[in-house]
Parts: sequence; C-alpha cells; structure tokens
Amino acid sequence: MAINTSTTAPAWHELALCAQTGPDFFFPEPGTSVRDAKRLCGACEGRAGCLEYALANDERFGVWGGLSESERHALRSSSRR
Ligand code: SF4
Repeated sequence: MAINTSTTAPAWHELALCAQTGPDFFFPEPGTSVRDAKRLCGACEGRAGCLEYALANDERFGVWGGLSESERHALRSSSRR
C-alpha cells in the first residue's frame, strides 16, 4: 500500500465553502441580493484562488471569490489601465 506523503496545499476548489450550498446561492436571479454569498466567501480559505480562476477564465455570472459580476468587471477594467 502506497502512502501519500505529499505536502501539496489543497486546490482552492477543495477548500470551497460553497460546495456545501446549492448553486442558487451563488447564481441568484437578477435583482436579488448576493450579500449572503459574499459573506460566505469572506470566510472561505479558497477565496484568492477562486477569484484568480474566475478572472483568468472570464467567468461572467455569479459570485466568485467574494466579488459579484459587476465588481469583477470593474476589477478587470481597472487592471487594463
Ligand atoms: S470564495 Fe466563495 S465562490 Fe469561491 S470557492 Fe469560496 S465560497 Fe465558493
């Protein structure tokens, strides 16, 4: 039997708190609040990696890494200046 002695840190999606919620929580209907989703992101250890992934893959919908669609759009726009 092989023993895994790897010390590799877990990937962000292995730390994702949102894995314990339904997708509606992070992809709400237009016009509804994302406050609770963002609060959960604030306690998520995978947040930085999640946001990096969303920006790198141009994820347009939902809350990723604690930022809403419009907040990610603003961040992308400001980083291009
Ligand atoms: S930061 Fe938020 S959206 Fe990203 S993995 Fe964590 S809980 Fe999920």
